[in-house]
Amino acid sequence: MKSIAVTILGGAAFLTIVGIAPAQTPSATIDSYLGAAKIAAGTDWAGTFLRLCIPPPPAAGPAATAGRGARTGPPAKETWYAEPAKVADNLYFLGTKIHSAWAITGSEGIIVIEALFDYAAQDEILGGLKKLGLDRTKVKYVILSHAHADHDGGAKLLQDEIAGVHLIYGAEDWEAIDKSANHAGGKPKHDTVGADGMKVSVGDASVQIVTMPGHTAGTLSFLFEVRDQGKPLRVAYVGGTAIPFNANAAYYDVYIASSKKMAKAAADYGATALITNHSEFDNAFFKAHSAASRKPDETNPFDVGKDGVARYFAVVQACGAAAKIRATGQ
Ligand SMILES: [Zn+2]
Repeated sequence: MKSIAVTILGGAAFLTIVGIAPAQTPSATIDSYLGAAKIAAGTDWAGTFLRLCIPPPPAAGPAATAGRGARTGPPAKETWYAEPAKVADNLYFLGTKIHSAWAITGSEGIIVIEALFDYAAQDEILGGLKKLGLDRTKVKYVILSHAHADHDGGAKLLQDEIAGVHLIYGAEDWEAIDKSANHAGGKPKHDTVGADGMKVSVGDASVQIVTMPGHTAGTLSFLFEVRDQGKPLRVAYVGGTAIPFNANAAYYDVYIASSKKMAKAAADYGATALITNHSEFDNAFFKAHSAASRKPDETNPFDVGKDGVARYFAVVQACGAAAKIRATGQ
């Protein structure tokens, strides 16, 4: 999608796309934001556009709009199970068809990102590591983007099954867990707080934390470099994307400010790959398996270039601004 001429200058600059009026003027309408978001999305971020810019029909109910991964019982395994995949030299996909989890390997251990729903963690994360020939006892850290059951339902299982592992959540999400009476998948024991700018390292591989309040108050995003076919590949990983369509103005303001912060951090870092934690936003399940089966000289499907990374944030911010107008009239 690099053929689309999109100028992204950070901040609210997505509004410069195709000459759309800036947000500060009264002429910025829901439609102008949707138009900007659609162009920024192209085919790379079509799923992100659909989920964030198009409110679900009322019949879909509150669980579908809140993005909290509510469920009534484990779905049939064939509906979610995905084989693990080696995505880059030291990056591995451990997710389901729907939700993503990852392993980054370094000279002194393994970092796992996300723990999936409780019912998936055993087969996808512990089973996936084994299938890929990775030793679970080398996992030093499990970093959770946020405390919703679709990403951290397996956190307690991993804490129980991997001796000495450290669980990392944002401060506010640890607080939510500590207070909760019925955390899905069981309540993990309080451990490490992931602070803004913190670097989590396993020898020559590390993950830098960017706090990104919005989807939840303690949402964490990440910047990390992996090796892909021997070359460095810099990744921006967004820990929380979905938004409700009935929040107050402050919610959207915080969400959009965090997106701008992460967009800048990703650009400054020189990230050319963008990963989220739902395949609906980034086609991770498909891309992970494409990456694993590509020929030696083919580009990693997650590598969308700096422009592709910037356009993801442009979509999110424009849809967030449209959702704010819809919900609050401003
Ligand atoms: Zn969530």
